Amino acid sequence: MLLKDKVALVTGAAGPNGLGFATARLMADHGAQVVIQDLAHAEPQAAAARLGPQHLGVVADVTDQAACQAAVQAVLERYGRIDILVNNAGITQPRKTLDITPADYDAVLDVNLRGTLYMSQAVLPTMRAQRSGAIVCISSVSAQRGGGILGGPHYSAAKAGVLGLARAMAREYGVDGIRVNSVTPGLIATDINKGLIPEDRMKSILEQIPLNRIGEPNDVAGSVLFLASDLAKYLTGVTLDVNGGMLIH
Ligand code: NAD
Repeated sequence: MLLKDKVALVTGAAGPNGLGFATARLMADHGAQVVIQDLAHAEPQAAAARLGPQHLGVVADVTDQAACQAAVQAVLERYGRIDILVNNAGITQPRKTLDITPADYDAVLDVNLRGTLYMSQAVLPTMRAQRSGAIVCISSVSAQRGGGILGGPHYSAAKAGVLGLARAMAREYGVDGIRVNSVTPGLIATDINKGLIPEDRMKSILEQIPLNRIGEPNDVAGSVLFLASDLAKYLTGVTLDVNGGMLIH
């Protein structure tokens, strides 16, 4: 029970096959009251209900600052505190540099990077008042190796931006007892990449992964749980690679 009585909000966590839901479920298993935040069509309330009645689902688009603030307000009304934020909501697009349109750029930067900022802004005042909190940001190996699997350069840039934002927030809020860390998943089997990687390409990807398999959502969930828990109480500003050894640096 690493998160007994903690309140944890995970964005983009309604999809049953995603990293977010796996993280929410593992946190619930470890005693947390979990808030699943997602877009309306993803039905976050139904996802939360699958975890049990003590959990909450909230609809909020992470690119909408007012909606982020309202989501956190709903959490505070229900639980009176917020201990953990997992900035997990994200989208990707396969693009070459010259094909990235202004709309593509806005969509990918907004969800991955602006959303991380808006949600962090929504929880930080409460965490500062509590003098404790843990934020975990889901970046990507794409930020570190310059893409090369699915996402285009704008996705790599957004996820690299997440790393910088997380480190800067870690530096700013450590004095308030708030830790901010990042996870950089490699290739993990979820809906974001389902059916998009041809078999021969998958074979060559696997040759580059020392652990010789692609990741499962629970591989990421375990690392997020660790960073959010007191096991990591002296860790802030770190980037934890969860990639089977795809990038050893
Ligand atoms: P996913 O598509 O299953 O989950 C993404 C979730 O984000 C969905 O539930 C979606 O509804 C939600 N979402 C999208 N836009 C949103 C918005 N504007 N506001 C709120 N929620 C929104 O994909 P996943 O693989 O579980 O991805 C989770 C995170 O992990 C993403 O940030 C992704 O970039 C990152 N990631 C995934 C992989 C991988 O291989 N699967 C690798 C590295 C990083």
